Amino acid sequence: MFIPLEITGIIYFMKNTNNSKKPLTGFNFVNPNTDFPKMEREFLGKWQKNGLVKKYLQRNNSSKEKFSFLDGPITANNPMGVHHAWGRTYKDFWQRFWNMRGKKQRFQNGFDEQGLWVEVEVEKELGLKNKKDIENLVTGDKFKSLEMFINLCKDRVKKFSAVQTEQSKRLGYFMDWDNSYHTSSDENNYSIWNFLKVVNEKGWLYKGHDSVPWCPRCGTAISQHEILTEEYKELEHESVFFKLPIIGKNNEYLLVWTTTPWTIPSNVAVAVNKKEKYSSYVLNGENLWLMDKRIKELENQKILIGGKSNNEKKLGKLLIGWEYNGPFDDVSLVKKTLGNYIHNVIDGEGVVTEEEGTGLLHVAPGAGEEDFKLGKENKLPVISSIEEDASYVQGMGKFSGQNAKWHPELIIDYLEQKNRGQFLLNTQLYKHRYPTCWRCKTELVWRVVDEWYIAMDKSSNSKFPNLDKRSGAGKTQNSKVQEKTFREQMAEVAKKINWLPDWGLERELDWLKNMHDWLISKKRYWGLALPIWECKKCKNFEVIGSKAELKERAVSGWNKFEGNSPHRPWIDEVKIKCSKCGNMVNRIPDVGNPWLDAGIVPFSTMPEEWFPAEFITESFPGQFKNWFYSLIAMSTALKKTNSFKTVLGFASVRDEQGEEMHKSKGNAIEFNEAADKIGVDVMRWLYLKQDPEQNLNLGYHVTDDVRRYFHLRLWNVYSFFVTYANINKFQISSIRQAQDKNFKFQISDNVLDKWIISRLNKTIKVSTELIEEYSADKAVGEIENFVINDLSNWFVRRSRDRVSFSNENIKDKDTCLSILYFVLMELSKLLAPFIPFISEEIYTNVSKKDSVHLENWPEFNDKLIDKKLEEEMQSARQIVESAHALRKSSEVKVRIPIKEMFYNGPFEISEEILNIVKDEINAYSLTFDKKSDVYGVFAKTSDDNLDLQFGLARDIVRKIQQERKKLETKANEKVMVYLPYWPKEHEEYIKKKAMINKIIEDNDFKVVKNA
Ligand SMILES: [Zn+2]
Ligand SMILES: [Zn+2]
Repeated sequence: MFIPLEITGIIYFMKNTNNSKKPLTGFNFVNPNTDFPKMEREFLGKWQKNGLVKKYLQRNNSSKEKFSFLDGPITANNPMGVHHAWGRTYKDFWQRFWNMRGKKQRFQNGFDEQGLWVEVEVEKELGLKNKKDIENLVTGDKFKSLEMFINLCKDRVKKFSAVQTEQSKRLGYFMDWDNSYHTSSDENNYSIWNFLKVVNEKGWLYKGHDSVPWCPRCGTAISQHEILTEEYKELEHESVFFKLPIIGKNNEYLLVWTTTPWTIPSNVAVAVNKKEKYSSYVLNGENLWLMDKRIKELENQKILIGGKSNNEKKLGKLLIGWEYNGPFDDVSLVKKTLGNYIHNVIDGEGVVTEEEGTGLLHVAPGAGEEDFKLGKENKLPVISSIEEDASYVQGMGKFSGQNAKWHPELIIDYLEQKNRGQFLLNTQLYKHRYPTCWRCKTELVWRVVDEWYIAMDKSSNSKFPNLDKRSGAGKTQNSKVQEKTFREQMAEVAKKINWLPDWGLERELDWLKNMHDWLISKKRYWGLALPIWECKKCKNFEVIGSKAELKERAVSGWNKFEGNSPHRPWIDEVKIKCSKCGNMVNRIPDVGNPWLDAGIVPFSTMPEEWFPAEFITESFPGQFKNWFYSLIAMSTALKKTNSFKTVLGFASVRDEQGEEMHKSKGNAIEFNEAADKIGVDVMRWLYLKQDPEQNLNLGYHVTDDVRRYFHLRLWNVYSFFVTYANINKFQISSIRQAQDKNFKFQISDNVLDKWIISRLNKTIKVSTELIEEYSADKAVGEIENFVINDLSNWFVRRSRDRVSFSNENIKDKDTCLSILYFVLMELSKLLAPFIPFISEEIYTNVSKKDSVHLENWPEFNDKLIDKKLEEEMQSARQIVESAHALRKSSEVKVRIPIKEMFYNGPFEISEEILNIVKDEINAYSLTFDKKSDVYGVFAKTSDDNLDLQFGLARDIVRKIQQERKKLETKANEKVMVYLPYWPKEHEEYIKKKAMINKIIEDNDFKVVKNA
């Protein structure tokens, strides 16, 4: 049976470039239980073969409109985890969207390759324990050792950038993968040289001598930027209450408390609050001085047992100047450093707390940040007692070479024994949040060292006036006007950026307000070689801004360096002549903070005409202090403006219980595992659906819910269309495709069709706006609502009869399929950036074209959005809900027709829509009763208002259809049925609905295929 299809009344507004009149019949079979990951892998293979990604990347090459995306580089140090896939989905999503919108793009991915994270992994692989091991990889040859180490670091990032590239492709991420940028590249490093030269010319670069957080394992300073809240661990340490005998007083002591006993050898002073009262407390015949307010608490904690205050009280200011003896005074380094200095009590108002301890603060300028500041103010000596690895330095007597951090008991034992315990009162386990190394998790210590900084609060040198023509400074504001500080300039730039969510700006400004000078040096190996050549003789230092400049200045070592990347150890060979004294000068051995590497990329990787980037997106935690910070810092210094216009931040991926994912905890999910198990379209949908401000709890239950809720229902709609289109030999060529330039859309007369077209247009319109505003999650909400509530639960549900064999209205059947065809075409384009695989499957099967990813973004037509109709349909569905509730409460099955029903509501519903409602709720009549605020139905549910016989007929049809399924009869194949009873007045109905040619009365129910 072949019915030539003639569809009238429909003109599509699809902008179809394919005008071929060739009929497209027969859609590929759709497996209702498809294996999504398998389908994805097949598409990846197909795309590779047909060069789709290349066509996609080049599709807008001649476009005048641009979308400038800047990728935040992924650390190429390990395979990707599922947490990386969130951001990478965002990045792909917006680039795909703008690609479909016809904008030219760069599609450049970035790899972050230098820094401690890579070094630590290479050290682990080699089983190295510390820096000395690195420098001795080739015994006795530091140059060769470093060369080997650096080459291993290079190998590692090469390996993992390749791994991550493959994983990203698996995610469906379409990028110009052969053209990724690498932060370890020469261009990137030399661009940072230029930045540092500019910063130095502004007078902001300096060498500082300061107390800094230090990782004893990595042997390097940890900058304030790198200590994030998550780097603080809840740790328990043995704290010490120790006594310092006051000089010139008999048996009187200062009672001091510290949580870091290893720092006691560096003690030089004790600080008090001059406005607080201090008491002398009598304990075991000794008088201990401490803050009055602390006595009660320390008695409660059983630190002070069996003593009492002797009522002698003094204000703290009267204690200032008291001198005391320290427990380590006879250790040679301490003795030498102190010289004529005698330990004494100083003013510590503002740092002495009444919250904990004794109200007397242990001051060790060599071992603490606050201490160092106090020391500077009070001109105190600095006892630097530990080495890079936290072992005590030479001159510390029996402590020398012992690790201060790992063996606090050395100090406690010593205090216990020294002068028969004169110095020790008590110890107490103390829980506190303590910073650890962001890379190796080792507990940090503080050391006083020379490091390189960028000053935040110096106005720039006047010889570099405001060169920014766009600042509107004009001629009246000349270079004599003092420039703003780096901090002030950066805050101004931060305000020009569109922060999403908007509190991002506050967070960034807060950091900018409170941050110290930017510590940019690291005493390490694999990183940017800081281009600073410092003269040992006259202390002059010079910053070299490029390779060419270095070549010009080089007086030796150039031949050893040439041909190598600007890394250690090769770059260390190049010496220049001091421009002040003519001395031969080496480069300082330090490498740079890794955030310099990522912050420079708008300049090192992005051609001028793409500056500033339209959009960046990264996970928030950490980036206010790191990437966002360094981007702002570097573009402020170089261009006095922002290098990106909009930033979308997002939270973190957690496990299903909301716990942080860690390899060591066993709750981390590898990207490959997740992709193979659930498919990336499910992951992508989950990421895009997530409110970016909230952490995303990811696990296989969550992804399965997503898959069942959305993907399977979408798939069912698609499968429904293909099944019925094939059965009905639906032909696309019969649709009159749009040539109408005015986009006049004469839709089918069917109100359900008009409604779904209206909803489709509305959904396209709203989600387009939302995506433009970077609200992917809200766009997902719109699309889910359309697919599930409108398309699946209403349009398809109410169209089953229209496309079934029993519908003899061929025109209506074909109209219905045409509408569904059109919806699927547009929907798959709408879904393409979200779920590139399923959308490709639907689109290519339905349209018979090459790929949805080469199509334009679907357009909407405002004229097709019928607000009134949508509202009316909404009302109709409220009536349906109310009717189903009524049936449920009165236990009347939906199959049994109700003869008379009534409804109330704000407005009467049109006849056309009421007919749909009546079909859905199975009522013969549905009459408006009276006005009310909300829609609701009522009806008698006694037998006289029910058509029980027809209900039975429908029951029989359903049973027969189930049997037909079991027998695997074809949809148009008639059968013979044996039945004990059936309502004779509905025999024709049963025969037609269930495709029966004969019903035979028999005691046993049976369905038989015709011979
Ligand atoms: Zn470390
Ligand atoms: Zn010099």
